[in-house]
Amino acid sequence: MTKPAPRKVDMEKLVSLCRRRGFIFPSSEIYGGLSSCWDYGPLGVELKKNIKQAWWKTIVQERDDMVGLDASILMHPQTWEASGHLEGFKDPLVECKSCHLRWRIDDIKGNKCPSCGGELTEPHLFNLMFKTFIGPIEEEASVVYLRPETAQGMFVNFENVVNSTRKRLPFGIAQIGKAFRNEVTTGNFIFRCREFEQMEIEFFVRPETAKQWFDYWVEERLGWYVKLGIKRENLRLHQHTKEELAHYARECYDIDYLYPMGWAELEGIANRGDFDLVQHAKFSGKSLVYYDEETKEHIVPYIIEPSAGVDRTALALLCDAYDEDIADGEKRVLLRLHTDLAPIKVAVLPLSRRENLVSLAKEVYADLRRHFMTQYDDAQSIGRRYRRQDEIGTPFCVTIDFQSLEDKQVTIRERDTLNQIRLPIAELKNTLQAKLAGEELFVLPPGGSIWKEGENG
Ligand code: ATP
Repeated sequence: MTKPAPRKVDMEKLVSLCRRRGFIFPSSEIYGGLSSCWDYGPLGVELKKNIKQAWWKTIVQERDDMVGLDASILMHPQTWEASGHLEGFKDPLVECKSCHLRWRIDDIKGNKCPSCGGELTEPHLFNLMFKTFIGPIEEEASVVYLRPETAQGMFVNFENVVNSTRKRLPFGIAQIGKAFRNEVTTGNFIFRCREFEQMEIEFFVRPETAKQWFDYWVEERLGWYVKLGIKRENLRLHQHTKEELAHYARECYDIDYLYPMGWAELEGIANRGDFDLVQHAKFSGKSLVYYDEETKEHIVPYIIEPSAGVDRTALALLCDAYDEDIADGEKRVLLRLHTDLAPIKVAVLPLSRRENLVSLAKEVYADLRRHFMTQYDDAQSIGRRYRRQDEIGTPFCVTIDFQSLEDKQVTIRERDTLNQIRLPIAELKNTLQAKLAGEELFVLPPGGSIWKEGENG
């Protein structure tokens, strides 16, 4: 496999770009922020929405063996007894006796505080689930938890889905939603948040086919990231050893990404066996056995679970898209985001603020924004405006100049190639649509011409 190329991005550059351009802000920043909680700004919300849409399209829309679900975040507390989270979802923690910082045992080497070198306490277990109360009385009987994963919503609805959709094995349930973990080790921007979003699949299969489906999903999920533009050499598979396997898992692979701080988990794919349906049947007293009408067999399906994080995917995509190069003799920073993911697809830029140019540009803008996320910008020089759009990953800029008033033609300038094509306004929408769908424009529309930024057109 190719070795990863040296990175142009580091966490500091990325955090600064995200904040400056409105991708991601610290949560409740005016109060000093809240540790490991982040707010997605005007561009971040678009990026995140596009990631979720791309996932849903591949996983639900384009498959006939998958259905969607949106379960509630608060679930019956017995769910977490059955799943093992109440008992087992704990990190062993130690505290420094001098500076009182807390550390996850996995994160320290030796027996001294990594921050001040002080003496550490004996480890104690700390449950990562956030606890709250249903109703007005704060007592043990009304305790509920914010879900630490979306998965359980799919397991407890297994029977509902089978009965309401008549889905037959093998089939999956897919869900995107918030999850909450009172994480101990924090830092690394949106890599590890206390509130985050998951995109999870629970794929139900006949036990004897579990291995085959497990291998299928590992390849499928890896391919999805590559399709969205992540370089293959920045992704790797990591198989869990027996010691690393979670209590419910028979086999597990992580898809790791080479983040600026090193290789770390982007998505986990587990063969959960029949653990979940057996546990929920036991705790709920309901039979969660599947009846195969063809073979007249009663089966407890095995579950293959590809579990991805929206925030970690956003971070990986931003890191991978970040680039610096030279355009028109000037250094530029750009995000080479896949067109499906770019928050803004098209920017409309009149060459000057002259009234007749502005009115034509606004007409073009009003038309395009019915079809694409479009930005209008007439502030500062055209070069500065191109750089601003490059930095937020906008794939196409449409420039309206004085000649446009005469010949009703405009220029499309491409972020990645710096190619510029001139074409009739009447062809603009269809051309952009084709380009956004990834079609190369070998044939220019009637009356079109092509050149590179910095060269005379
Ligand atoms: P880690 O070991 O890094 O804490 P995990 O193995 O506990 O992760 P899983 O329980 O497998 O994570 O969760 C599935 C996916 O959910 C992860 O691959 C990741 O993308 C996402 N995820 C989990 N915890 C967080 C978090 N605190 N912040 C952001 N995303 C998370």
